[in-house]
Amino acid sequence: MTLHDFRFDVDDAGIALLTWDMPGRSMNVITERVMDELDSVIDQVASSEHIKGCVVTSGKESFSGGADLTMLQALGRQYDENAKAGNPEAAMQAFFDGSRRLSVLFRKLETCGKPWVAAINGLCLGGAFELALACHYRVLAETDKARVGLPEIKVGLFPGAGGTQRVPRLMQTGDALQMLFRGEQIRPQAAKSMGLVHVLSPLAALVDTAKTWIAAGGKGVAPWDEKGFKPPSGKVYSPVGMMTWPPANAIYRRETQDNYPAAKAILQSVYEGLQMPIDIGLRIESRQFAKILRSREAAVMIRSLFLSMGELNKGARRPKDVPLTSIKKIGVIGAGFMGAGIAYVSANAGLEVVLIDQSQEAADKGKAHSHKLVTDQIGKGRAKTADRDALLARITTSADYESLVGCDLVIEAVFEDRAVKAEATRKAQAVLGPDVIFASNTSTLPITSLAEVVLRPENVIGVHFFSPVEKMLLVEVIKGAKTGDRAIAAAFDFVRLLKKTPILVNDARGFYANRCVFAYLLEGHKMLLEGVPPAMIENAAKQAGMPVGPLSLTDEVAIDLCRKVLVAARQDLGDSAVDQAQMDLLDTLVVTEGRLGRKNRKGFYDYPEKGPKTLWPGLQALRPTRLDPDAIDVTELKQRFLVAQAIEAARAMEEGIVTDPREADVGSIVGFGFAPFTGGTLSYIDGMGVSQFVLLCDKLAKAHGPRFDPPGLLLDMAKDHETFYGRFNAKAA
Ligand code: NAD
Repeated sequence: MTLHDFRFDVDDAGIALLTWDMPGRSMNVITERVMDELDSVIDQVASSEHIKGCVVTSGKESFSGGADLTMLQALGRQYDENAKAGNPEAAMQAFFDGSRRLSVLFRKLETCGKPWVAAINGLCLGGAFELALACHYRVLAETDKARVGLPEIKVGLFPGAGGTQRVPRLMQTGDALQMLFRGEQIRPQAAKSMGLVHVLSPLAALVDTAKTWIAAGGKGVAPWDEKGFKPPSGKVYSPVGMMTWPPANAIYRRETQDNYPAAKAILQSVYEGLQMPIDIGLRIESRQFAKILRSREAAVMIRSLFLSMGELNKGARRPKDVPLTSIKKIGVIGAGFMGAGIAYVSANAGLEVVLIDQSQEAADKGKAHSHKLVTDQIGKGRAKTADRDALLARITTSADYESLVGCDLVIEAVFEDRAVKAEATRKAQAVLGPDVIFASNTSTLPITSLAEVVLRPENVIGVHFFSPVEKMLLVEVIKGAKTGDRAIAAAFDFVRLLKKTPILVNDARGFYANRCVFAYLLEGHKMLLEGVPPAMIENAAKQAGMPVGPLSLTDEVAIDLCRKVLVAARQDLGDSAVDQAQMDLLDTLVVTEGRLGRKNRKGFYDYPEKGPKTLWPGLQALRPTRLDPDAIDVTELKQRFLVAQAIEAARAMEEGIVTDPREADVGSIVGFGFAPFTGGTLSYIDGMGVSQFVLLCDKLAKAHGPRFDPPGLLLDMAKDHETFYGRFNAKAA
């Protein structure tokens, strides 16, 4: 047996150790060859008389991230080719067999007659954790980095190699469903208390602990293969089952709005599978898996959220020829809302931070934000007091620009005022010289104009974070007219250190993300003025797949800030740049009613000291007409929300503000939560077909005005039946 991806040793006591260690890769992943080799090892363990059992572990820092998703994609392509070749039934059988190969293999391991133990030394996710679940005993290293979990749902798939059958046979059905729906990475202690692993062990003793279990006579039979096995929640058709399933169904609908076929497949697999012996349960799961693997949702979510996101995070759009920037110490000017957040995420990533404000007191207040955030983490058991001390020690506060000496990069987050920003830039460059890379976190001012005040405009760049900085994973890197490659590379290198996702955006009003977000908010405000009940607006947006309704989001952003953006747009571009009805609405809320949003507890919603927010009853008076809710076309409301944003994204592509569909798609999901099941703004259009999308735009433009007119680019693409990924040749296509 020649192995490439594993090492296989049998000790004197007859206990085998299978070490997964793929050459040339930093992490193990399940490939066809891994399956072939595992298959032959299982045969050997089962047939060899002197082997008592087998421990499987990894030779890398992590155990494994799971199956190679490109392998799963290839199965789909193979099916299409075979089906086209004229025998769809055989094509489907081959696809089904291929998609359940891992499931069958793990079941073979589980029933081979010898005990198997997973010695999980680090991160163990997806298909790799399903391998562990098929083992008869699981030992997990008790380290900071060890995690187990089944995150497939996050890319539109679900655990199809036994996860939906074994997890609900290990714990209460409700807990199992939550775990499968959430797809979270679970820490060692939690994994132990959930019953996902049998025992925790120090890393150094991991393999010994596993071997000891076999040596002590550990049985090679899974609990569900024992006679008389009952799942922890008992039968589906039982009083307990009846208390579980109706609410599970309701929670599924509330959380997914029925937009995610994979989540429904989990529900069906668990519900049907638990009523059957495990082998039939696994077959049920496989049927669902094959169906989901061929779904559009899975295809576009894998493309955007796994492939494209991975490529962007690795710097696909970073200038290739510039050497990696050495960033150890950064300066943050402006210790307000955003600056304090940027200081925190930077210090958290291990960077030294000099945090500057107009007074020492203001700078200290910014640092206090970091204290609060780490303290919250400590409260949740995710950090230790020593972590807080170390993080805070990395942040120096000052009102003196001289403290910036030695910084490799400076980010300014002062007031959104051209003169204030110019002054901060000049002062910083006086200390650091013209070669330092100077990044601005401006949300509206053109980077090109900010660069005018410095000696070397090629060193000025926009690094646009979103709030709250510690939560939001997208960063727009804004390229001004004169920004050079060294500055772009530095910005990418910085964002990568923070483990956030950068997209490269050209300098334009609203850049990319905010432009789409404002189109979304406008739609909500227009609906209110048309007479759609506010609760219906919010619910339709969520049904469309948005995480937060437009009225609620306006409150979060702050209504006065939205109004300021409109005022600035009108000043710079003229009256036609703003929607007068929206302007009037925001004027009334801010100027007449003093309603600024969540920040003063008064916005589209009221925010009482205690209890949940409620829609402000005064909104009724702001709606000149009231539509009969039963006469409102909810499908159209949903379309308006998504189409308004997708048109903006298409316009941004047409104008060259974003240039790579991967960035438009990933940016839209990560930056503003654009319905993830669509794969993002441009995949939404591609998925519908550009011609179909143009027809929909025309219909909406007729009913609601020219903001829905499709841009020329789309008309052009429709003529030739093009897609964004085809026309703009994104590597991820
Ligand atoms: P803020 O008012 O909370 O903070 C600005 C800070 O800058 C204040 O602490 C102020 O004292 C300080 N400051 C002003 N002039 C200074 C100077 N000359 N030297 C040093 N410090 C000075 O504002 P914010 O919300 O943090 O916004 C900062 C920047 O980030 C703005 O450009 C804004 O457009 C941008 N931005 C804001 C958000 C958001 O959601 N608030 C999101 C993205 C980008």
